[in-house]
Amino acid sequence: MTENQAADVIIIGGGVAGLSTAMQLAGRGASVLILERERLGNGSTGRAAGLLGQLRGNAEHTRMLIDGVAIVKELERAAGVEIFVQTGSLRIAETPERAAEIASLVKMGKSIGFEIDHMPIGEVAERMPYMRTDDLVDACYCPTDGHLQPAELAGAYIKVGRERGVRYQTNTPVIDILIEAGRVRGVKTANGDYHAPVVVNAGGPWSYLNAELAETVLPTAAIGHYYLTTRPDLAHPVDRFSPAVRDRELRIYTRPESGGLIVGIYDAEPDLHDMRKLPPDFDMSRMKAARDSIQVARLIDAAHQRFPWINERTAMTITTGIMTFSPDARPFCGQMPDIEGLFHCSGFSGHGIVQSPVIGLIMSELILDGKSSYDVKSIEADRYFDIPGYMERDDIEARCLAMAGNYYGKVERAQSVDSSSPSLVGRG
Ligand SMILES: Cc1cc2nc3c(=O)[nH]c(=O)nc-3n(C[C@H](O)[C@H](O)[C@H](O)COP(=O)(O)OP(=O)(O)OC[C@H]3O[C@@H](n4cnc5c(N)ncnc54)[C@H](O)[C@@H]3O)c2cc1C
Repeated sequence: MTENQAADVIIIGGGVAGLSTAMQLAGRGASVLILERERLGNGSTGRAAGLLGQLRGNAEHTRMLIDGVAIVKELERAAGVEIFVQTGSLRIAETPERAAEIASLVKMGKSIGFEIDHMPIGEVAERMPYMRTDDLVDACYCPTDGHLQPAELAGAYIKVGRERGVRYQTNTPVIDILIEAGRVRGVKTANGDYHAPVVVNAGGPWSYLNAELAETVLPTAAIGHYYLTTRPDLAHPVDRFSPAVRDRELRIYTRPESGGLIVGIYDAEPDLHDMRKLPPDFDMSRMKAARDSIQVARLIDAAHQRFPWINERTAMTITTGIMTFSPDARPFCGQMPDIEGLFHCSGFSGHGIVQSPVIGLIMSELILDGKSSYDVKSIEADRYFDIPGYMERDDIEARCLAMAGNYYGKVERAQSVDSSSPSLVGRG
């Protein structure tokens, strides 16, 4: 074994989860090797819209995301790039049930000192003349939200990580995880074995297959997602700093992009991907959405309802990719009881970009200190371990699909501020 084939920590996967974790670990002196099957940042990370909403349905998750923004701001200084675009964000309600949802969110946000308030519909209309507002009954606004630019974020993690000594090896799929007496020893690749006492499974949509290499179960599923990006339209200009919008009733989110608008949908009937059936050299950046598919039709229809100038003839691109959902839409961070030294970092359920800055920190704490400075109970990797109904692939997929299909659709209320239970209303 050469020195190059050993590290304190080997990370499987060079998406934002693995890159952020590597950067944080190296910042604390660990030697880290990332093994990436393809190119860095070319999985889900390369497809993301990057929306960043900090307010979640409970105080601890909100604190994590607020801290995440601070980490991004430091990263911007260290890497010399703009990653965060602070546009503010709006939630809009077109029914009394959705208005109640917004009211509970505003109440919870204010109770923890988060900047959020109702915004009169007239003001919404003034700020966003390109959006239909005559059917709205309420809205709320968070001025400190915005979006992260995923490519710049990944690039900054790589740059700072490299300065701290992280080694990145691309075109190197991990084909087995080496375990002896219940302890991880390293990984196997076509280039030979690599050894480390800690291995992190940050394989995004492939992470359940990586878990299977270690003969364990990670209850995630790979779910398709779609958004459109309109070309700039002189009749409907979208300012670079126009707020992001979440319209849960129509299941859509939007943000400005290069003079046009991104509109994405959490579809009621999302498609499931079997990652095992994809070719070994599958490149997510080559995925193309069929313009006549039912998912694209539903996306354009929902976008049209909120932005009546968007229709099938609008000049736009459609982006599709694969997300990693968990049964409760929360990630899995940490070890399972069955294999010592094997950490999981996956299942971000459409929010891995926004969560990655703080998740990298949390992972580094879990790996180096054995505990985190955050209350991580609700994102612990072992929360479904050995629980019937969460161990078989069919069950897992059914649960993850149901969660993804209900993601924006269901009307929910914010949890009390000290609750660590999942809350849907904070989703964004
Ligand atoms: C269309 C779309 C829009 C999205 N919009 C948003 C958004 O607005 N905001 C937000 O926060 N999130 C968004 N997301 C989700 C976000 O992209 C993901 O949560 C995030 O990128 C997950 O990062 P990751 O590192 O876990 O996974 P990935 O980026 O997929 O990285 C995993 C990497 O692991 C590698 N890998 C897997 N197995 C192996 C192996 N055996 N050996 C070597 N390498 C391996 C893969 O090649 C891949 O590069 C969106 C996702 C999609 C698809």
